[in-house]
Amino acid sequence: MAKHTVTLIPGDGIGPEITDAMRRVVEATGVDIAWEVVEAGADVMEKYGTPLPEHVIESVRKNAVAIKGPVTTPVGTGFRSVNVALRRALDLYVNLRPAFSIAGTGARYDDVDIVIVRENTEDLYAGVEFEEGKTETLELIEFVEAHGAGSIRRDSGISLKPISITGSERIVRYAFEYALANSRSKVTAVHKANILKYSDGLYLDVARRVAAEYEGRVEFEDRIVDATCMGLVMHPEDFDVLVLPNLYGDIVSDLAAGLVGGLGIAPGANIGTDAAVFEPVHGSAPKYTGKDMANPTAEILTAVLMLQHLGEREAADKILAGVRSVLAEGTKVTYDIRRTNTGSTDGAVGTQAYADAIIATF
Ligand code: NAD
Repeated sequence: MAKHTVTLIPGDGIGPEITDAMRRVVEATGVDIAWEVVEAGADVMEKYGTPLPEHVIESVRKNAVAIKGPVTTPVGTGFRSVNVALRRALDLYVNLRPAFSIAGTGARYDDVDIVIVRENTEDLYAGVEFEEGKTETLELIEFVEAHGAGSIRRDSGISLKPISITGSERIVRYAFEYALANSRSKVTAVHKANILKYSDGLYLDVARRVAAEYEGRVEFEDRIVDATCMGLVMHPEDFDVLVLPNLYGDIVSDLAAGLVGGLGIAPGANIGTDAAVFEPVHGSAPKYTGKDMANPTAEILTAVLMLQHLGEREAADKILAGVRSVLAEGTKVTYDIRRTNTGSTDGAVGTQAYADAIIATF
């Protein structure tokens, strides 16, 4: 029996290609993993009547660790995101998105080392929405007005932003525990509490209360989200661990990915009490499907996070060193990195050739 069994969800779009590259790189380290491959997304809709079949969730529950490629969320079909549904089904309340500089990516900075801790279950992503024109939407508008909470135009659609003490407390605590476990010195709580008094204001109150428990061990500060974005672009070295509610976390983590070379290299993890699902920040990039062009670095660095989580430090370090060496050397890189570095995609290699170059460093 293998030492670890991991659920592998290849996803769609560029997902199958980049997960294939990732799997080959991981296997080449010699780590003992058995993959349980299960499919999710639009392609299984016809067969199972849902894009996220129960056996996929069960597989992750059983193995407690999964790694996935991106899954497309068709716009305007009533088909909710598989990624959001999976996070919700397994209560994966942490979305961990490290952004660190790697030489050779052509990024504008070379000294970024930040970790975004994004709340993953509530806020505007809770999926509590009221469609424009529906009876219940008009009732909600009347309820709001009857309670003196303001006025809303009758032709509005409404998305609610619930932020709870429970959700805020566990994510902020996770950020502090992560800082302690990874020798990080500061946690910045990001919010818009000056405007959103009862949602972000509550989040900030809870953050301050939790931070007090870590006083003297981890530094704490809070910042408004807009000022955070400017600060990150001007002085990313001022930041260490950032903890954010769901929507700001989503946006700021793409910004952070941009600081270190783009979505093609940004890894991520969704972590709960009983399971962890590792996935890159980027989506399925449909226009590159099947072209052997996509950059698998984000998926491969996502596997590094997974191996660290599994306690396989040696394999994780080996892969990270391999990625660093191939990117620094600069000749066997995918089109996106090539373009950033030279202004042209000429001389770029494909997804699998790049993975082979990493394997060749082992
Ligand atoms: P995207 O991340 O797929 O693409 C954004 C841009 O980044 C595109 O120009 C794309 O070509 C480029 N890009 C992304 N990944 C790349 C890679 N590995 N190598 C090279 N270039 C890369 O974002 P999108 O276009 O907004 O979304 C496409 C689909 O993916 C949507 O259906 C969306 O819902 C879904 N999505 C899924 C996830 C997930 O599975 N967790 C996350 C985000 C988006």
